[in-house]
Amino acid sequence: MRSFDVLIVGGGPGGSSCAWKLRGSGLRVGVLDRATFPRDKVCAGWITPQVVEELELDLEEYAKTSTCQPFHGFRVGALGGEDVAVDYGAPVSFGIRRCEFDAHLLRRSGAELILGESVRSVRSTEGGWVVNDSLRASLLVGAGGHFCPVVRLLHPAPADPGVVVAAQEVEFPLDSRAAAACTVRPELPELYFMDDLRGYGWAVRKGAFLNVGLGRQDSHDLGAHVGRFLDFLHARGGLPPGSPRKLRGHAYLLYGLSPRPLVRDHLLLVGDAAGLADPRSGEGIRPAIESGLLAASVVLRAKGRYGWSDLMPYETAMVGRFGRRDARAVSALSALVPAALRPRIARWALASRFVAKHVILDRWFLHRDLAPLPAT
Ligand SMILES: Cc1cc2nc3c(=O)[nH]c(=O)nc-3n(C[C@H](O)[C@H](O)[C@H](O)COP(=O)(O)OP(=O)(O)OC[C@H]3O[C@@H](n4cnc5c(N)ncnc54)[C@H](O)[C@@H]3O)c2cc1C
Repeated sequence: MRSFDVLIVGGGPGGSSCAWKLRGSGLRVGVLDRATFPRDKVCAGWITPQVVEELELDLEEYAKTSTCQPFHGFRVGALGGEDVAVDYGAPVSFGIRRCEFDAHLLRRSGAELILGESVRSVRSTEGGWVVNDSLRASLLVGAGGHFCPVVRLLHPAPADPGVVVAAQEVEFPLDSRAAAACTVRPELPELYFMDDLRGYGWAVRKGAFLNVGLGRQDSHDLGAHVGRFLDFLHARGGLPPGSPRKLRGHAYLLYGLSPRPLVRDHLLLVGDAAGLADPRSGEGIRPAIESGLLAASVVLRAKGRYGWSDLMPYETAMVGRFGRRDARAVSALSALVPAALRPRIARWALASRFVAKHVILDRWFLHRDLAPLPAT
């Protein structure tokens, strides 16, 4: 039996960031993942600058071996309507490939890695848990993404799972001809919102790769929505002829609309396991990383005591960072505008440079006024 102070299930950005923050603490930290790394993750791979600072990432160094595409802004519009380009003239966020980024974060986390092993069983014991009858842990951190097996220890499958975002993407290399033909500029990814404001499609170039996809707060007819978006993109030159049209899908929950609790005795949830994606942009990497870092800070302060009351400061810290975990706190435009008026208002608003820059980009997507989490 191997014993850990902290066993993290899931080596994505949430789990690896938690482990990284615990490095050098004297705690024995393990990360268990069913995949071996590098592994891919269905994702557009767009990250905001806060995480670069929070994780002390040296992007210049990173870019020597991995794709790291600076984004100077975005082209924003309504699907089939007008669009505007907002260029900040300097990098405001970055495009990475998850197969590289996640492996990099996990490698430098300093944790003992148990890879290629799925969670088969979790048993509660005096003072902790036993996983797969072979790994003992005083504290279990559920960081296994939307379908994390640790979630059900905390929250049996609810009748109402909350608002589940269904999203699909495909990422593929562009040969030199396709790269020259593609109208999407590498430094200016494109976002096209749907008339009902319940989702958007994207086209993101990252070095030699193009990632296209679409996410919606409603999985009904997702394939048809994706098909229409690909046709639209193709017609405007954003999807070169011969590009793959078979996309991979995944799901996630939005912060404020997820019913999953965060804490129980000897157990914490971070990232998609907790359902933390931003309700307006769908950004999930920063919330996963920040929740992992906040969880680790609470673990460090708990000094080996992992009862419910010792871990509750994590929930308080999360509310401090992300706001009250309450559906009423979510002010998505789709909830504010009556359904019948949405298409007209969406097209008008999305064609406005002011709305695109100051509301959609500055506030919803880039959180320009949000400082990175302090290192302490
Ligand atoms: C199509 C799509 C596009 C997206 N685009 C973006 C984007 O551009 N930017 C952004 O910020 N967010 C994006 N997101 C959301 C983002 O991908 C997630 O929020 C983020 O990956 C969450 O990180 P995580 O560490 O919580 O979980 P994950 O990255 O999902 O990692 C979970 C890990 O747990 C492991 N695991 C799962 N089950 C088990 C098990 N039973 N046993 C052991 N290990 C297990 C998995 O192998 C995986 O390595 C997108 C999501 C989708 C679906």
